[in-house]
Amino acid sequence: SRRVILTEYVEGYPREEHMELLPAAAVLDRPAAESSPSVLVKNLYLSCDPYMRPKMSRPIPGQSSYTSAFVPGSVLTGYGVAQVLRSSLPGLAPGDLVWGITGWEDYSVVQPPFTGLLTKIDPELAQDDKLPLSYYTGILGMPGLTAYVGFHQICSPKKGETVFVSAASGAVGQLVGQFARLMGCYVVGSAGSKEKVELLKTKFGFHEAFNYKEEDADLSGALRRFFPEGVDIYFENVGGKMLEAALVNMKTHGRIAVCGLISQYNLAGGEKEGVSNFACVVSKRLRIQGFIEPDHKHLYPEYAAWVVPHIREGRVVYLEDVADGLEMAPEALIGLFHGRNVGKQVVRLTDE
Ligand code: NDP
Repeated sequence: SRRVILTEYVEGYPREEHMELLPAAAVLDRPAAESSPSVLVKNLYLSCDPYMRPKMSRPIPGQSSYTSAFVPGSVLTGYGVAQVLRSSLPGLAPGDLVWGITGWEDYSVVQPPFTGLLTKIDPELAQDDKLPLSYYTGILGMPGLTAYVGFHQICSPKKGETVFVSAASGAVGQLVGQFARLMGCYVVGSAGSKEKVELLKTKFGFHEAFNYKEEDADLSGALRRFFPEGVDIYFENVGGKMLEAALVNMKTHGRIAVCGLISQYNLAGGEKEGVSNFACVVSKRLRIQGFIEPDHKHLYPEYAAWVVPHIREGRVVYLEDVADGLEMAPEALIGLFHGRNVGKQVVRLTDE
């Protein structure tokens, strides 16, 4: 049994030496603790998510964050798909498949409060080859609900509106584009390579797409080309220069859903980029709203019931980038911050 620990707090970009694969104490034979309900699971898939990077920084007292920092020397935790081996939690039995927060290790003992976040996978859905188990780290898991809530609720979209999505080929972005298209919106995405731009247009149904690295000298001009009348909705995944470029291109009464700011996660406090044209918010009467998926967990059943038929009938597709083996997990996570993932980054721990 093995586990991936954080070796030290990260400053700047995460590197391989910030994480280490170590042997783990055997948990299989250990009796379950009686005091609180716990679930022993075998991890099958792990999810690499950008939010894990801010958790690797030394916590700054007084600075608000909605999740606590990782502790050097301790196992990394994140979303995953697992099989229950032993459970003292009502409603979960050996053999059940679950998704939720687990550890970057072969076996995890899930304890409160994380037991409350374990979601049992419907056994009938688990049998459907159109719904692979890895999807519960992506379209059928946290990023899927993020895209659904972020687009349908936070953006208040209407048919015919114009939508811009950044980091558009990723776990969340590829779904926002498809949801916008299903809604009858005009949707344009930005991504960091030629291959990704092609995928946006050919696989995910974006009307247009561009490589933001090629447009770096004039991002605002690029947006003006695709949105001569302006943007109604900006689904923000990136921040920094892209937010500045979007602000000047928003229509009056436009909405910006702030999902994440990945361009800022590896910058030290003093390096973080501000927004020089924030006055656009007033002149254009914009609504800017941040949101986090954990606040909307109660909508998961509604989301799953909506998206499963779309997947089964091919109206929504999902692209994954799968790394094989726990030993590949650190590199896969690091890759997110260099745009190496093409689609949702998953780590497979199972041979099936
Ligand atoms: P992705 O699968 O999109 O992977 C990250 C991608 O971000 C990379 O592939 C890369 O693509 C792009 N990227 C990395 N660095 C930069 C940079 N400096 N500038 C521009 N793009 C960059 O990740 P997710 O879809 O999981 O997450 C997307 C965003 O959504 C993140 O900001 C994340 O924190 C946020 N999020 C928020 C949630 C919430 O509850 N609010 C929940 C889930 C995610 P490229 O090649 O295009 O540069």
